[in-house]
Amino acid sequence: MIPFLDLKSLNKVHREELIEAATRVIDSGWYIQGECLKRFEEEFSAYTGSLHTVGVANGLDALTLTIRAWKELGKLKDHDEVIVPANTYIATLLAVTENNLIPVLVEPDADTYNLCPKNIEQALTEKTRLIMPVHLYGQLADMPAIDAIAKRKNLLVLEDSAQAHGAQVAGRNAGNWGDASGFSFYPGKNLGALGDAGAITSSDDELVNMIQALRNYGSHEKYKNVVQGVNSRLDEIQAAMLSVKLKYLQAQTNARRRVAAIYMTGINNPLIKLPLNSNINVKNHTSHVWHLFVVRTEVRDALQCHLAKSGVQTLIHYPIPPHQQQAYIQSEFYDKTFPITERIHREVLSLPISPVMTDAEAYHVVEVCNSFSVDA
Ligand SMILES: *Cc1c(COP(=O)(O)O)cnc(C)c1O
Repeated sequence: MIPFLDLKSLNKVHREELIEAATRVIDSGWYIQGECLKRFEEEFSAYTGSLHTVGVANGLDALTLTIRAWKELGKLKDHDEVIVPANTYIATLLAVTENNLIPVLVEPDADTYNLCPKNIEQALTEKTRLIMPVHLYGQLADMPAIDAIAKRKNLLVLEDSAQAHGAQVAGRNAGNWGDASGFSFYPGKNLGALGDAGAITSSDDELVNMIQALRNYGSHEKYKNVVQGVNSRLDEIQAAMLSVKLKYLQAQTNARRRVAAIYMTGINNPLIKLPLNSNINVKNHTSHVWHLFVVRTEVRDALQCHLAKSGVQTLIHYPIPPHQQQAYIQSEFYDKTFPITERIHREVLSLPISPVMTDAEAYHVVEVCNSFSVDA
């Protein structure tokens, strides 16, 4: 059986170092907002190239608290419109609706699955204040074009980088475009903690200062609350785990790329559409970090079944788009028609990919994909 993602093996590689780091935290007697968080925040800023990192409890909070901070600073207000891709994970929308702003769903580019600048332009209204590009599956959205639109229209940009640690476009990392960026360190992400964790990166001092207060009860100084904050802190143990794992992120990305290359060159079944490694013109030069390797086929369920029978576990990211989720039954966008998004959700299938997959396993997946036929 080739598992979709073997987290146990993935973390076992670092077992000794993780235990050592956890032991140091246990023995220190300091478990929240201490040296480990500070160190990880500095390391992650250096990694993304942004000036600041603010650790929070998870990726959803990273997005939610950034929007909340802009509201506190008077840059956003209730009912402002926010451009989001229609085909994202629901967290992107929840961050918007939780703040009482209006998500405006936009069809993605049909080949990269990322926000399409042309469709953004068409969705802009007088009330648009923010664009949230999601770097889906590990590939950056067309950030040079999106930042240009935002600049021209005086809009804020918040990247959802939960799937794109280390991905680049035009030599610049996810987390270093737009005004701010939200990351998730959920265990299955490219940089994963051993529990929940997330962070915001930004080079905007005022914004960073506000998020630092919001994550800690609205307080910079103990028992002095300047805003009505929340408790969303990244604790010392998880920060220590992340500092260990960040050191290996580049090597792990390279390992993912090796698996992706085997798939890209090996899979030649006409029923299976491979991912397009960027529609952005060559001069912008994107680099994909392959959080997910997503293929498409009109006979998705049959392909999934065929792979399962040959011992290959696959997943669907995601089976139901946000505009068809019961959670949004009261929303204006509920059950509207988004043909590209709906087709993507009907056809996508994620093949196994991870830093601990062997070449032999990847070649086996290729073979099974190539032996697939509709009457099989
Ligand atoms: C995982 C993910 C999130 C949320 O991160 P959590 O840490 O699970 O809260 C947000 N957006 C996208 C695109 C994600 O994949």
